[in-house]
Amino acid sequence: MGKQTTRVPPEALERQRGFTEQIRRRFADRQAHPLAFVDTYGCQQNVADGQKLSGMLREMGFSFTREPKEADLVLLNTCAVREHAEQRVFGNLGALTHAKRENPEQVVVLCGCMAQEPRTSERIRKSYRHVNLVFGPHALWRFPELLWQVYDTGKRIFAVEDEAGSIAEGLPVERESGVRAWVSIMYGCDNFCTYCVVPYVRGRERSREPERVEEEVRSLVSAGRKDLTLLGQNVNAYGRGTTCDFPALLERLDRIPGDYWLRFMSSHPKDASPRLFDTMARCGHVAKQLHLPFQSGSDRVLGAMGRRYTRRQYLDLVAYARSVMPGLVLTSDVIIGFPGETEAEAMETISLVEEVGFDALFTFLYSPRPGTAAAKLPDPVPREEKQRWFDRLLEVQNARSAAIHAAYTGKTLRVLGEEAGGDPEYPVSARTEGNRLVRVKGDPSLIGQFFDVRVTGSNTWALYGEKEE
Ligand code: SAM
Ligand code: SF4
Repeated sequence: MGKQTTRVPPEALERQRGFTEQIRRRFADRQAHPLAFVDTYGCQQNVADGQKLSGMLREMGFSFTREPKEADLVLLNTCAVREHAEQRVFGNLGALTHAKRENPEQVVVLCGCMAQEPRTSERIRKSYRHVNLVFGPHALWRFPELLWQVYDTGKRIFAVEDEAGSIAEGLPVERESGVRAWVSIMYGCDNFCTYCVVPYVRGRERSREPERVEEEVRSLVSAGRKDLTLLGQNVNAYGRGTTCDFPALLERLDRIPGDYWLRFMSSHPKDASPRLFDTMARCGHVAKQLHLPFQSGSDRVLGAMGRRYTRRQYLDLVAYARSVMPGLVLTSDVIIGFPGETEAEAMETISLVEEVGFDALFTFLYSPRPGTAAAKLPDPVPREEKQRWFDRLLEVQNARSAAIHAAYTGKTLRVLGEEAGGDPEYPVSARTEGNRLVRVKGDPSLIGQFFDVRVTGSNTWALYGEKEE
């Protein structure tokens, strides 16, 4: 790789397997059948990390429960992107003191992005004394050793040192059952958008080797997974400076035989190129779906966010993508209420939403993150005012999503049955290539299959339909 990337050496991973074995034996000697409660907050990257942590716990001999009270180990895999997510974690941590009083042997672990923030780890050290182990994303691969230290010494362990980050291959993964799977292709972020905490807690941008990614995708496809999502904070920066950049990776993975869809997220507009869209259009397995966060429709605000593209450039990218992929399903992230944003600027964001016509949006009210550049900016607009702009944005987008969905009525779509629908009238929950949710009247044996659905109705969030005979 062109950039300096640290890979965790195989001997170090082997040493971790030794700790896993020691923990497993400790439980086996006591004829214990330990239970773990794992709770993951935040983005898909965190979900993927949670599956690795659960994979490690499984190898240590744990089974899983959804009831924290009966768990021998409670693990909160946290998110620091917005304040709200942090408050939920502190609330849940507080509630755990009660369970721990009843079961003093219970081990409480806090990991993920919040753990990597010095102010948070200090607060836990001082005020949440029932937490036994705290470690950030950089130390994830050392979880067996850290947990062994807790069991062996009875002491509280904090592994929260700041570092650039490394790549650990071959960690066990406890995947959810079903047809979906997440594949991290890179870690960290170098973009430092001024509102965002991710580069501070997840370290420098680093890419996995294409051979390792290909191996993982091949094994998922041969195990019957049919809806695979490649993950990175900015996948367009994958392999930067090497011979295998992101479009080349897509071409390489697309050659893997089988019946499956390949998706990816997120794409940063500054690094998205016509070549990426040409590659998507050409590759049969790559879903014609794009998540391209624009964040703001105002050039002044985009500049203050450090996004490094303009409204015009974003619109041109979308126009090109649609010209080579007619019917492309397009989604995005947007922030309302960035410090100093005026009402006129917020309305520019809403006008961009109207102009583009997104299929769906992930909408966020700006949340100041200590340590980021934007948190130091004056932020004079009251929250109620921002909330009004936000509600207006939702109104516009919800009407658009509902109209786009309504236009599908009477059409036939190819879908993948993904899981039980949870509604007796529509027993199957399916997805289109564009990742639209379709509730289907049909037999649960359709789960795991590709099939055709005739759309009979819709609302803002989903399509409804029947299997076409
Ligand atoms: N790397 C991805 C990108 O740039 O598109 C996004 C990662 S971030 C976990 C997901 C979304 O959270 C961002 O696209 C942004 O809209 C939102 N976000 C990040 N920091 C935020 C903040 N301080 N306040 C509100 N929303 C925020
Ligand atoms: Fe955060 Fe920007 Fe990196 Fe996305 S690209 S993770 S928003 S700093």
